[in-house]
Amino acid sequence: MELVFATNNKHKIEEISTMACGKFRILGLKDIGCMSDLPETHSTIEENALEKALYVYSHYGKNCFSDDSGLFVDVLGGKPGVYSARYAGPQKDSNDNNQLLLKNLDGINNRKACFRTVIALVFNGEKYTFVGVVEGKIALQPVGDNGFGYDPLFIPDGYDKTFAQLSAEEKNSLSHRHFAFEKLLNFLNCCKK
Ligand code: IMP
Repeated sequence: MELVFATNNKHKIEEISTMACGKFRILGLKDIGCMSDLPETHSTIEENALEKALYVYSHYGKNCFSDDSGLFVDVLGGKPGVYSARYAGPQKDSNDNNQLLLKNLDGINNRKACFRTVIALVFNGEKYTFVGVVEGKIALQPVGDNGFGYDPLFIPDGYDKTFAQLSAEEKNSLSHRHFAFEKLLNFLNCCKK
């Protein structure tokens, strides 16, 4: 059976493919001839994820899921949240985003934050959502060279290292995206573990 993952990010496709049993063939957007990035026009990651999955289902007639993630900082009222990629501007530069976040948290002791992923699935016309969360805090300065985005600033609870100091395997096993993928695959009865 085919299932579309509404993304052009091959790392994400690889990550979920290694967790899934062989029940579904997971296709990316390019595999179905969709070459453009899908619209993300809403003010919540839930709505954005659903928008992308519904777009593929209605335009290509294929069962589809999509993901949207963000970093939510308590003391900033949940910002950068849905705007995580473009927090410091449309150039979507991780370094600029990290610097702005540090500036906005300057002198603040409460650095509690979480990463959240929402996956929206449209399967035979029905809509489902799956949420993955990892709690943690924002470091005082960027540390580590691995990963992407806010990884050098995010210290997951129970660790004294940032995501960027963990190996890809370690990070993937405790990431928000991993937990959301796991819930989706369990729902579809095709999780390896
Ligand atoms: P996306 O929905 O996966 O594209 O994530 C949106 C934005 O949230 C990214 O561009 C990053 O800025 C941030 N983000 C999401 N997941 C992570 C992560 O695992 N590490 C660091 N930043 C992330």
